[in-house]
Amino acid sequence: MFLIRLDDASVHMDTKKWGAVEAVLTKHDLAPIVGIIPNNQDPTLCDVYEENPGFWDTASEWKKRGWRIALHGYNHVYTQTNGGINPVNNYSEFAGLSLSEQKQKIADGYAILSEKGLKPDLFFAPAHTYDENTLSALESETEIRIISDTVANDVYKRGAFYYIPQQTGKPRKLPLKTVTVCLHPNTMSETAIGELDAFLAKNRALFGNANDVVLKDSPPSFLDRALKIAYFGLRRIKKALSKR
Ligand SMILES: [Zn+2]
Repeated sequence: MFLIRLDDASVHMDTKKWGAVEAVLTKHDLAPIVGIIPNNQDPTLCDVYEENPGFWDTASEWKKRGWRIALHGYNHVYTQTNGGINPVNNYSEFAGLSLSEQKQKIADGYAILSEKGLKPDLFFAPAHTYDENTLSALESETEIRIISDTVANDVYKRGAFYYIPQQTGKPRKLPLKTVTVCLHPNTMSETAIGELDAFLAKNRALFGNANDVVLKDSPPSFLDRALKIAYFGLRRIKKALSKR
């Protein structure tokens, strides 16, 4: 099953672009995962997009229509130079912080969304980066037991958490069992939004709604582990070559 994930919803976002992406998803009758930043302080978003007081009503509408709410960090500010256990980037809001600091962020963010009637059951970190302390904080401070962020073939369970893989930043076919296409509406061009529409027109049957993901208790398979090693190994090789 293919899923759509939309990143960086908050009171500071490009409402026009989000509206355009929403229209495409509505047209194809598809409900995504949407990651909300509870207390956005990221200057690359806050200094660019005016505060939208209607955001929380919009998010409530999304929820009513089956969009699955994810806690997307706390303030989306990168203070850490650490890739953690999903080192897609070497910076993070979370990876490298103490457990007590992470507990505070997670508890505060969870409280904000819950107070708005948007209690999330999924988490994904800004820059995809988190560590074992992030998981411990989620486990003790929230009821969230699903992470949307790992390189794998299919959903798996490790420790207390289910992991939904997220492998691509643009709509494309991949020969994997569960694929999450991660999109950032704020920075999508009109062309990219058009391409999403065209891809869904052709491949809508591959996609499922975010609430329909089946969580399985199985541990990561050989293929899941091999994909992760290959993915991060290739990234390391590319990085090393680019430094030469
Ligand atoms: Zn983000």
